[in-house]
Amino acid sequence: MRNSFLAFGSPLIEQPEIDEVVASLKTGWLSTGPKVRKFEDLFREYKRTKYALGLNSCTAGLHLSLLVIGIKPGDEVIVPTMTFCATANVVTHIGAKPVFADCKKDTMNIDPKDIERKITSKTKAIILVHFAGRACEMDTIMDIAKKHNLKVIEDCAHAIETEYHNEKAGTLGEVGCFSLYVTKNIITGEGGMAITNNDEYAKQIKILGLHGMSEHAYERFGDKGYKHYQVLYAGFKYNMMDLQAAIGMHQLPRVNKYWERREEIWNKYNIAFKGLPVLVPAAIEPNTKHAYHLYTLLLDIDKLTISRDDFLIKMRQRNIGVGVHFIALHLHPYYSQTFGVKRGDFPNAEWISERTISLPLSAKLTDADVEDVIEAVKDIIICSSQRK
Ligand SMILES: *Cc1c(COP(=O)(O)O)cnc(C)c1O
Repeated sequence: MRNSFLAFGSPLIEQPEIDEVVASLKTGWLSTGPKVRKFEDLFREYKRTKYALGLNSCTAGLHLSLLVIGIKPGDEVIVPTMTFCATANVVTHIGAKPVFADCKKDTMNIDPKDIERKITSKTKAIILVHFAGRACEMDTIMDIAKKHNLKVIEDCAHAIETEYHNEKAGTLGEVGCFSLYVTKNIITGEGGMAITNNDEYAKQIKILGLHGMSEHAYERFGDKGYKHYQVLYAGFKYNMMDLQAAIGMHQLPRVNKYWERREEIWNKYNIAFKGLPVLVPAAIEPNTKHAYHLYTLLLDIDKLTISRDDFLIKMRQRNIGVGVHFIALHLHPYYSQTFGVKRGDFPNAEWISERTISLPLSAKLTDADVEDVIEAVKDIIICSSQRK
């Protein structure tokens, strides 16, 4: 057994970003400034979009996206129940109603058939999540959206590298929102990016993301002379700092290198767990690119003497950090009490919620770390499948 704890979702941080952060501190320009501009430019080039807007989180991006596409109190927005709470919370922040849809058992992505069933005269938009980095069924979903005149926002928190039929995730809907949180594929600690090709959305996201002010602090305090700003809306404080961009601008050029390492780990796990009472992630759909953000193992709990939660404890006892992505949102008290959703409503998401466990999948892992994870999983499964 390993003697040091292997943290789940530990980022790989290298010397250039450490130096860049220090350099930012020395210039005194900590908040939104030239490094945010540079990082936005790099992101825009990477995604080949017209705009990339640096923000302090993906959640901020999702909130602003809903505002700029015109979601109003009382509107309905369809969201997957198999996601992180931020996807649905932003809908409630506007006074709109999140309407949950089930996922598919194998891909864990939102089920287009359930989207169609949930559409009412109040439905205005869909927020998609490319779950674990696997592309949603975009052709089918975009057809549904077109038919019912719905706008699509892509929650790409897991999906920076994801592609669908040669199109990059985040470029298929109105706005794509990325997370640079510390556990994601590339990181700035806290941070997010919103991408769009729409001039008006980009302009509004910029304004609403910084207090609703007409001019950015960057231009206000720069060397081009003082300019008054006007407050156009009651906006939000969602801007990215140069300190964050200082990390991101060095992480982004390594996005493919990190992806290749995670693919290698992914394939090792797939081979190692063959024949065990677990389901490894479904095969990757043709003509798509998976971002390999989460390696989710589904435990065949009927064949084991322990529950998923016991499994989590045993992994930690073996010094391996693990995650659960996710307990479906409708099973959490806030959503069930507020929107009347309950156990039994979304059978596939519930099935996954009871069985899923995410294993470490960071580019930081050494081969020895990967072997430790594999050994721990095998050991626990063998010990708990004897008596049934
Ligand atoms: C992490 C995550 C978010 C939130 O990202 P932040 O940058 O922390 O706001 C949103 N949606 C999903 C699916 C996530 O996993």
